[in-house]
Amino acid sequence: MKKIKADIKAKSESKYKKIPVYDPKTGEKIDEIIETPVKEIKNIFQKLTEGQKEWASYGLKRRKIKILKIKESILVNIDEIVNLISKDTGKSKTDVIMSEIYPVISTIDTFVKRAERYLSDKEINLKNKLTINKKSYVAYMPKGPVAVISPWNYPFQIPFREIILNLLAGNSVLLKGSPETLLVSLKIEEIIRFAGIDDNIFQNVLGGKEAGEEITKYPWKHITFTGSVEVGKRIMAKAAENLTSVTLELGGKDPMIVLEDADLERAANGAIFNGCFISGQSCAAVERIYVSNKVKEKFIKMLVDKAKKLRSYIEYPSDYDIGPITTKFQYDKILAHLREASKKAKILTGGLPQKGLAGWYIPPTVVVNVNHSMKLMKEETFGPILPVMGVSSIQEAIDLANDSDYGLNASIWTKNHSLAKKIASKLEAGTVLINDHLYTQAVSRAPWLGIKKSGIGVSHGAWGPRSMAQLKHINYDVLPLKRDLWWFPSSANKYDAFKSYIKKDFWRKPAIMLKFIKEFLLLFRKF
Ligand code: NAD
Repeated sequence: MKKIKADIKAKSESKYKKIPVYDPKTGEKIDEIIETPVKEIKNIFQKLTEGQKEWASYGLKRRKIKILKIKESILVNIDEIVNLISKDTGKSKTDVIMSEIYPVISTIDTFVKRAERYLSDKEINLKNKLTINKKSYVAYMPKGPVAVISPWNYPFQIPFREIILNLLAGNSVLLKGSPETLLVSLKIEEIIRFAGIDDNIFQNVLGGKEAGEEITKYPWKHITFTGSVEVGKRIMAKAAENLTSVTLELGGKDPMIVLEDADLERAANGAIFNGCFISGQSCAAVERIYVSNKVKEKFIKMLVDKAKKLRSYIEYPSDYDIGPITTKFQYDKILAHLREASKKAKILTGGLPQKGLAGWYIPPTVVVNVNHSMKLMKEETFGPILPVMGVSSIQEAIDLANDSDYGLNASIWTKNHSLAKKIASKLEAGTVLINDHLYTQAVSRAPWLGIKKSGIGVSHGAWGPRSMAQLKHINYDVLPLKRDLWWFPSSANKYDAFKSYIKKDFWRKPAIMLKFIKEFLLLFRKF
């Protein structure tokens, strides 16, 4: 670890371009990090392409040993890592341990234990009389060098989990974290080096848009991107030039539907937590609430009371519920949404922060009298803002929930599970939760995906490591015959044999009956 720190220091004293590091709690610049020169990216791609072959040749067992060293390094240095992530993002230490450290440790544990189950060869039953002499299996092969491009809101867990799954699958990895949270990216690199994974297998590119544009020029075997819809589209277009596959985990505008029979205390606690956790800077935060008109007033009052009780970092610097917004541009965007909405909507608590407060603080905010003409209800806000609309029917709630370009998470709050499941089937979202929201992103065995503009592909669960691997189908003979049935020569006998096989095996009885009835009726009409 010491060597890497020395390298970073040496670099920071050189003439390279530097990226500033800000403290979100004060808004002040606290450090600067040397950018990776864009012209180095070509060499990095080549190095990772070569290095991947060796990493793949290790096999699952040896790769797992290295990955377990990553876990060891995190666990030994847990407080130091938590403090660093908290400093770079402004999140409280509790938020960091829950949403950054726990998912990484759990991912390593889950996938190291289940790697064989997910990635070893699987026989396929071909169930075909013609191929009775054939057997098949699928293998999950390493893909090659891959790129992981990630955002600032979960700068540790999002890239780290993707890196782990790719390493496990036998790929070499380039990481490009967000330029807003480079202290965390450097920490990831340090941890990976501690595990004995060298720069033939893992590389950390420090940079922003320009570095991202350069990375996506190269023929990676896969790009896992987490970030905004706009950049996701751009990356997909660039990847198409090399036919590189992509996983895109993009933005969200998650709806929460509260039915009249909901446990309102749980629903209000759930709205406050899932809307304001890490100051609402989660892709799957509650961003819109649709509540039955029958319980609306009571529910809103509960929300306002609970929002007022949340503790901010300004009053409680070492133990807070609401931290600052991590980046200045996100802070400005949230304020713009609030300003636009406040021309017609009513802010019941929170709202625009008082002038002169330290850092990029936005208080927990409850807004009513909102509608879908406002950005606050249609675009991703990414702040601790809870806009609430009353609805007079379940159908109205479903229609409003689906009136969005996004489809990441959605939730339904009710005591009636069978009704909730029916509603869930109609909601356009990758994940629908009943009486909860958001948390499954951290659960390693659950799939994570967005539909509509929220993404393409699935990470985590059995789907995660498999989507990082290259599926290969292998087929072989059981007995060594001189030729297969369908090989040359063509003949009338072969034609008849195939016809009778097709008719016997694939012509289902109901279809024959239907044809017979149709012909009979036609005949009948003629007389
Ligand atoms: P962003 O799209 O601005 O940036 C993401 C990454 O892409 C950064 O590393 C950035 O430097 C890089 N980048 C920017 N322009 C690029 C280009 N032209 N080519 C290649 N790379 C480029 O997103 P952000 O502001 O860092 O993150 C917030 C967004 O991420 C939100 O929309 C949020 O919903 C989304 N997000 C989604 C999930 C999910 O699981 N679906 C999880 C976390 C965050």
